[in-house]
Amino acid sequence: MSSETTVARLTATTTAPPPAPTTNTTASAPSTTRTTDAPIAPTRTTAPPVFPPGVDSAVNEIDAGTAARMTASWRPGCPVPLRDLRLVTITHWGFDGRPRPGELVVHATQAERIRRVFAELFAARFPIEQIRLVDEFGGDDDRSMAANNTSGFNCRKAFGSTSWSQHAYGRAIDINPLQNPYVTRGGVHPPGGREFIRRDGNVPGLIIAGGPVVQAFARIGWRWGGAWSNPDYQHFSTNGR
Ligand SMILES: [Zn+2]
Repeated sequence: MSSETTVARLTATTTAPPPAPTTNTTASAPSTTRTTDAPIAPTRTTAPPVFPPGVDSAVNEIDAGTAARMTASWRPGCPVPLRDLRLVTITHWGFDGRPRPGELVVHATQAERIRRVFAELFAARFPIEQIRLVDEFGGDDDRSMAANNTSGFNCRKAFGSTSWSQHAYGRAIDINPLQNPYVTRGGVHPPGGREFIRRDGNVPGLIIAGGPVVQAFARIGWRWGGAWSNPDYQHFSTNGR
């Protein structure tokens, strides 16, 4: 789906999402403003199933306040201007079994798709350590990975390359880097991910072929770095690079 959506301002909510996602349909729809990318039937009163109760998400333009927070990840000369990026806020499950807010920046054309992916991961109860702007780690991917941070946009070069990373276009996302390291001949990134290079699908937060994360991204046409000869298990991108 390529329709650009209207941009909704997410009003800060102070209400915590329900403690656990349930499959019942009696829970009320989340109260937050949300964007939609399809015409809404006027009679519809419940959230579409892809956004389960407890998911609080929105897509916003990069306003001045957000831009001021992105000085480590974006600068003039980056391949994508700020106006073509979007801040996606989403709810995710932590490893402690509690829902928490997360936010990441992606290209505007991918923002609604990414909202949907994270809503699916929430519904699947896939745990994610934290989802914060890489700027909170000084734009340093090594620090972000070591903190097991899930992130999207970062105007940086590809690992061991002089070319822009797909992250520099807002067309790549890394998820739970610790459980899903990038394994090269030279090492494991982050180094703490070494204990997870044996891909045991029972480990919480671990991404496996055919699992919910790979499936959710496949549904929006994104491809997984875990299939590479030097697997980058944390990495998903629009073009498989
Ligand atoms: Zn990546």
